Amino acid sequence: MNCPECGGVDTIVMRKMVGQLYKFCDVSECSWEYSTSRNDDYSWVTDEMFDDCLNRIVSGLDGDALFAIPGAYELLSEALNNDVLSALEEKRDSGGEEE
Ligand SMILES: [Zn+2]
Repeated sequence: MNCPECGGVDTIVMRKMVGQLYKFCDVSECSWEYSTSRNDDYSWVTDEMFDDCLNRIVSGLDGDALFAIPGAYELLSEALNNDVLSALEEKRDSGGEEE
């Protein structure tokens, strides 16, 4: 990506920060930067705080809400594939009754 300020070619560096995407120009005299964060300053949020809170939010979501997140269904169905199949197998072997 080229810098809109100094015109440097492929000088934009992306860095993922806590809950946001931060981009800046790698040319030392150039001060171009861009952040996806709102106007508020989230520098007081630590990685640990972010992860703790994310964990709390995710814990409150049900399956449908999780599946609605782009890419989540693919990841979850693959990671939990064996668990799902063995749970279904157990259910079948127990006569198919609802647990
Ligand atoms: Zn620049």
